[in-house]
Amino acid sequence: MADGALPAADSLAEVLADVRRYLGWHRDVAGEELHASMDGALDAIAAAMSVEVTVEGSSTPPVVVEYAEVSTETSAAEPRSVQRESPGPRAPVIPAAAPEPALSRRSDEPPRLDEVRRELGDCKRCKLCSGRKNLVFGVGNPRARLVFVGEGPGAEEDNQGIPFVGAAGQLLTKMIAAMGYIRDEVYICNVVKCRPPGNRNPEPDEIQACQPFLEAQLHAIRPSVIIALGKFAAQTLLRTDTPITRLRGQWREYVGIPLMPTFHPAYLLRNPAEKKSAWVDLQAVMARFPKAGG
Ligand code: URA
Repeated sequence: MADGALPAADSLAEVLADVRRYLGWHRDVAGEELHASMDGALDAIAAAMSVEVTVEGSSTPPVVVEYAEVSTETSAAEPRSVQRESPGPRAPVIPAAAPEPALSRRSDEPPRLDEVRRELGDCKRCKLCSGRKNLVFGVGNPRARLVFVGEGPGAEEDNQGIPFVGAAGQLLTKMIAAMGYIRDEVYICNVVKCRPPGNRNPEPDEIQACQPFLEAQLHAIRPSVIIALGKFAAQTLLRTDTPITRLRGQWREYVGIPLMPTFHPAYLLRNPAEKKSAWVDLQAVMARFPKAGG
């Protein structure tokens, strides 16, 4: 295909069907809400491009519209848009393609962690990329039964490219040891993979940009249990804005995986009296998922 040219209708139909297959997998980990909005966008594109798209397993009837020639328009200032040239009195300007999927994988099979890392690449999907020294993907056993999810890297994590190696990380390492594990046996990652400047909270657009990768990591590992450390991990995975003080200590599920929300180690450093509650939460995990051979 020449540079800048759009594919013909049948290729477009294939591309759209491919994206839908990807979304079918993504529905598992991303939830219905995102899926429904992407699905709607694809229908709009299919209709606007005047192609017929029949999608396996879709409840949406095939979109059949007469095919009109397709041209491209690009400008430096505006996103590429697609116009129907003829027939019709007015050529509607259609928003260009749906946003590129964060993950291009199309199989129903769980991805491998290294594939997820490769896909993340030298990520520039949000503004945090401009301030980072290192992207902090995750560390530990790719087959871990136990996964800890934190908030986002701090200064030390940014320096080393490894999650939870600063003061909060040392406390987390102790919590892991108290549960009878060493760090290499579990997997540790964060909601956002790049350090928010000045250790501020991650912002919604940053969380949203990173979320497919967190979810893909969890899909790749398929742990027996997830421990969500603090508000951002718990609220992001559970898609809720319930405060962590109410979530903590209560078993929840993330796509069928038991999830225990508890306090973030940084919070525990500031509020040592709460360590007791966090320990109760960890004990609940140990009681339900005793360490094999431990
Ligand atoms: N706090 C986090 O949430 N994650 C880290 O990696 C370090 C501190």
